[in-house]
Amino acid sequence: MTKICCVCQRVENGSHWKEEYEFAENERVTHGYCPLCFDVIMAELMESRDDLSAEARVVPSSGQDSSQQTLCA
Ligand SMILES: [Zn+2]
Repeated sequence: MTKICCVCQRVENGSHWKEEYEFAENERVTHGYCPLCFDVIMAELMESRDDLSAEARVVPSSGQDSSQQTLCA
């Protein structure tokens, strides 16, 4: 099956990704990400994961604060 990048529409051709590609008549295609767009997607995922872990870090630290207050009291 021929893989097409669903972001930039380049077509995988061996180890190369071509912007211009002539499809054969009965060519079966599948959509995915070319290495360039995959890197972009992964970078965005890592960024959003950093946001999530930053939010997650707030919750336990506020929990520690309340337990410290309990110890002090
Ligand atoms: Zn792409």
